[in-house]
Amino acid sequence: MIRLEQITKSFGSLQVLRGIDLEIQKGEVVSIVGPSGAGKTTLLQIMGTLDRPDTGTVCIDGVRVDGLKERELSAFRNRRIGFVFQFHQLLPEFTALENVMIPAFIAGQGRHEAQASALEMLTMMGLADRASHKPNELSGGEKQRVAVARALINRPAVVLADEPSGSLDTHNKAELHQLFFDLRDRLGQTFVIVTHDESLASITDRTIHLKDGEVVADNITQNLGSVQFSLGPLV
Ligand code: ADP
Repeated sequence: MIRLEQITKSFGSLQVLRGIDLEIQKGEVVSIVGPSGAGKTTLLQIMGTLDRPDTGTVCIDGVRVDGLKERELSAFRNRRIGFVFQFHQLLPEFTALENVMIPAFIAGQGRHEAQASALEMLTMMGLADRASHKPNELSGGEKQRVAVARALINRPAVVLADEPSGSLDTHNKAELHQLFFDLRDRLGQTFVIVTHDESLASITDRTIHLKDGEVVADNITQNLGSVQFSLGPLV
């Protein structure tokens, strides 16, 4: 679903990404962790086509995106990639339903169709009864779930989330994390989540550790269940 090859990126004299190679499969829920300044957000922005690498290739859902022109890129991004940020970034003057409809409108859906898909998404998030509320009438957890509904309305292949639970309390955090897995199971989306949150990273399928612009560890989460290992003598 995502293939990065030899990605480098510098800001002025600061080299932020130093030759990243990465493959993420369809339906994986992957966390990216690492110290502040490691390059996590920059990497996510490049995966999301919001920024371009200096060198290297980026393939998303079978499309080589680094070669696309700006116009094609924004159409691709709107249809194929959903974003969830730390702060929900909902438009305050619009209702939850209208906020969720926006990417569908941009993708060319008519009003009725967009309304129906937005309501379907809000229902999936358990927020059907909040459809006509404005963001300031919603709790923090509800706002973030509306933002997830907005990210998913065009059924993107990939959902990229940057510290999605960073502004939530423990209860809402747990609920949001569970939501990602439910959505993956129901809709088959691939999730890539930048997080400082150990509790989130520990439940993802795979954790990529970034340090000084390099992947220093890439671990598939081991779920050993009740299997017992017994290490016998070597001879
Ligand atoms: P992380 O998400 O791991 O904290 P970032 O990718 O946000 O790291 O940033 C990595 C480094 O790149 C930081 O030192 C940051 O200050 C710098 N940086 C990020 N974006 C820019 C930018 N647009 N211009 C200049 N420096 C940037």
